[in-house]
Amino acid sequence: MTSVRLGGTIGIIGGGQLGKMLAQSALRMGYRVAILDPSEDAPARSTCHTFIHAAFSDFDALSQLCEISDVVTYEFENIDAHILRTLVNDYHVPQGAETVLTLQNRDLEKTAIRDSGADVVPYEKVTDANTLGQFIDTHGLPVIVKTTTGGYDGKGQMLIETEADLQSLDIPFDEAEWVVEKYLKLEREVSLTVARNVSGQVIHFPLQENLHKNQILYRTIAPARVDYMDEAKTAVDKIMNAMHFVGVFTVECFIDQDGKLYVNEIAPRPHNSAHHTIESCNISQFDAHILAILDHPMPEVYQHQAAVMMNLLGDDLDRLEAKLFTEPKWHVHIYGKDGRKPARKMGHVTVLTDDLEDALGALEQKFIKGV
Ligand code: ADP
Ligand code: MG
Repeated sequence: MTSVRLGGTIGIIGGGQLGKMLAQSALRMGYRVAILDPSEDAPARSTCHTFIHAAFSDFDALSQLCEISDVVTYEFENIDAHILRTLVNDYHVPQGAETVLTLQNRDLEKTAIRDSGADVVPYEKVTDANTLGQFIDTHGLPVIVKTTTGGYDGKGQMLIETEADLQSLDIPFDEAEWVVEKYLKLEREVSLTVARNVSGQVIHFPLQENLHKNQILYRTIAPARVDYMDEAKTAVDKIMNAMHFVGVFTVECFIDQDGKLYVNEIAPRPHNSAHHTIESCNISQFDAHILAILDHPMPEVYQHQAAVMMNLLGDDLDRLEAKLFTEPKWHVHIYGKDGRKPARKMGHVTVLTDDLEDALGALEQKFIKGV
């Protein structure tokens, strides 16, 4: 049972949209919130009692956050290993350091998933053109090369479809570490969001179906239009038996054209594909995370209605700004980021619907054609 009383302070490392929505859950439940973020206009600055403006590498500032907090969590997963281990040692950080440190690195992450017994797409760490060539000899083209650290929304990835691509690509092997993996023809992408509290209680959200555009999440449909919950749960159970999880996490999966499910990657924090849970479920992924790290018993999840979630990128806002709040069925979230860029995630919209295909069609009209 939780040792943090209502009114206690939850410290969050990172004040982007995930930190903001975590804070909104915590505030609604009666907790105080402290946030650390390097950006002066971080979205979560407006949703906390104390804001510490500091770099994620600023050990003194992070210690200060921990000092004023009864429990500490993170929305930012690339915290320096040494700093995180020290904080975990000295303060109440129930998620610990080891899982997030493994998941920071694609090579370690994929190895841990494979070792748990869940299926991953064939991959290999590559250090030069030779090791890359050997992988391609074994597995054939196409392949995708990804940096082992720091990549998100498709950043740090290179697709190699042909021999000519391979010849013309100049992968900077000296500047970063890389993994190569077989590039699959995907039938679907799905994700399963799960929360586990400190005592080990586990709850599952509905299976989500994810559509990507330019490797950025474009739409989530929940529940997924394919019945893969059992396969996804089996994979997640294997991973949970092998790795220690506390809080909310999302497992991204590929389904190939033979119907086989592979685990792609794991996010040890709230995930874009589960934003729909705010409106569509009895408990959101953000609520679940707060309850889990506080070691509260959690309710079983049920979904009120099917949902479509879409991200609002900068250029969507340019087109739709005047019409955003006129749609009766749109639940609009704007994160409050300064600096609108065409492909930057500025917000999202969730639509609850009894007719997914109809809702998707209507959104397509509005988003693409702006009518
Ligand atoms: P990120 O950390 O940027 O989310 P991912 O590995 O999840 O990186 O890749 C982003 C997207 O790129 C995936 O959701 C998928 O659409 C596509 N992708 C990545 N790897 C593969 C692959 N091996 N085969 C097919 N599609 C892939
Ligand atoms: Mg991904």
